[in-house]
Amino acid sequence: MLSFSGGSVLVILASPIHNVESTNQPVCSHCVCALTVAHVLLECNCDVVRQRYFNVSSLHELFDTVNAQNILGFIRDIGIYRLL
Ligand SMILES: [Zn+2]
Repeated sequence: MLSFSGGSVLVILASPIHNVESTNQPVCSHCVCALTVAHVLLECNCDVVRQRYFNVSSLHELFDTVNAQNILGFIRDIGIYRLL
């Protein structure tokens, strides 16, 4: 069983995006806007899937109140888990 704190998940998520930003800004293929951690976890049009795992309004609230397994479950369901 995986055991991550919310902060660990944020570090895992931010690392590949940060590395890509130094050369090319990744773009969300659904929204054609900057692909950021906040966009993926809070803003992108995956509301139906997101609400099965959490319903928060900020990254601070997400990582302070949501179980890491739920965050990873959401990431897995929207198909980006393999990118971590
Ligand atoms: Zn998007």
